[in-house]
Amino acid sequence: MRIGFHGADRTVTGSCHRVECAGVRLLIDCGLAQGSRETEERNREAFGFDPAEVDFVLLTHAHLDHCGRLPLLAKRGFQGEIIATAATRELARVVLLDAAHLQEEEARRNLRRIPHRRTQQLEAAIDVEPLYSVLDALNCLDRFGRAVTYAEAIELAPGVRVTFLDAGHILGSASLFLELQEHGRQRTIAFSGDLGNRGRPLLRSPVVPPRSDIAVLETTYGDRLHKPIAPSIEELFAAISGAFERGGNVVIPTFALERAQEVLWYLRQGHDQGRLPTLMQVFLDSPMAISATQIFEHHPECFEPHVARQFGAGHDPFLLPGLHFTRDATDSIAINRFRSGAVILAGAGMCNGGRVRHHLRQNLWRESCAIIFVGYAARGTLARRIIDGAKSVQIFEEEIRVRASIHTINGFSAHADRDELLDWHEQVRPQRTFLVHGEEDVMQAFAALLRDSRVEMPEFGQTSDI
Ligand SMILES: [Zn+2]
Ligand SMILES: [Zn+2]
Repeated sequence: MRIGFHGADRTVTGSCHRVECAGVRLLIDCGLAQGSRETEERNREAFGFDPAEVDFVLLTHAHLDHCGRLPLLAKRGFQGEIIATAATRELARVVLLDAAHLQEEEARRNLRRIPHRRTQQLEAAIDVEPLYSVLDALNCLDRFGRAVTYAEAIELAPGVRVTFLDAGHILGSASLFLELQEHGRQRTIAFSGDLGNRGRPLLRSPVVPPRSDIAVLETTYGDRLHKPIAPSIEELFAAISGAFERGGNVVIPTFALERAQEVLWYLRQGHDQGRLPTLMQVFLDSPMAISATQIFEHHPECFEPHVARQFGAGHDPFLLPGLHFTRDATDSIAINRFRSGAVILAGAGMCNGGRVRHHLRQNLWRESCAIIFVGYAARGTLARRIIDGAKSVQIFEEEIRVRASIHTINGFSAHADRDELLDWHEQVRPQRTFLVHGEEDVMQAFAALLRDSRVEMPEFGQTSDI
């Protein structure tokens, strides 16, 4: 039995882990590396294993940094089965098709930059080829097989069983409990996937896997504690009211899955309680977030019971007066007419692409506006530069001064904080722990807190016997 590490090693994005047991080869996630240009270039490199030899991919959730290289895996020969929960399957369809469109668009842009000389064109061929096409994404969607339900053990092959457990991170997200047997030896492995934090309004709290021999644990926020949710909601409402009083807009760079819906939920509450201006205009300016919101509405079974009841009674807790879904690019551009009183939710959450960059260009330089970050921002991204206090930033090759008020509200995080991760580890009680999905200094700080377990921080490509 062996475990291999092929992504999110001493870094946050690009999750991909491999397990071999009893002649069966499993991947746990196959995600895209996200961040600076150099980081993203790594997505083109070899996986470090032969995709044609992979029998199953167990997909923990539909975030791009966990599923975003699946089309490439299929393009390079993967013929096996992808297994996920029903909600993850539906969300992954939207996420992967969107990613493929973006890859094709970027390849076309790169092609236009090349002078029309044949030799140069050939030399640059590697840059104008998309990482994968829409067709590759469709081929990979054909590889999705069983849709699993939480807490049901599935026998993948003799000696290999897996149970998906609710990870409380985004709709459909899962931690995995693997039970392996080979030559009479038994091993259990708990994969955290991305862990949600407890006590959030929409999703249930994470279910911790049973005691396991080995744990593979994410460490995104392994060095800090989140603020409680109540002050975060206050901060959100105050930032919006403040910007409106100054005659400005609010831009919230938003992850399309979960955070967008959660922010809509809070805005609805603020509106119903009379704590936000009644004339507020809210724009969900992300086709993917709009589709994801519709998928959320199909899966009341994934929510806290009180939210599920609202859906059951025909109330949509994500709708509020003054809410506009802007799918078309022309409607998105029309938002520029609003100089004040608008709350604009647009992706990408880390501002490394997407419509939010247009809204930042319109609003970032205006003192009256507010930019509110509600999620994780990886190193090397535009969001991270603004959060870290840059005086000016480049957007579409234009230098934009940062004069809007900048807010970072981490109480909305979809990730467990340090104490929740420690608690998870304590309950799983592994003899051996592999830390993944975290920046190296954060991992070091977290590793120092773990007791009674052999702790490793695998390097990319590392394989260990288990
Ligand atoms: Zn995630
Ligand atoms: Zn992740």
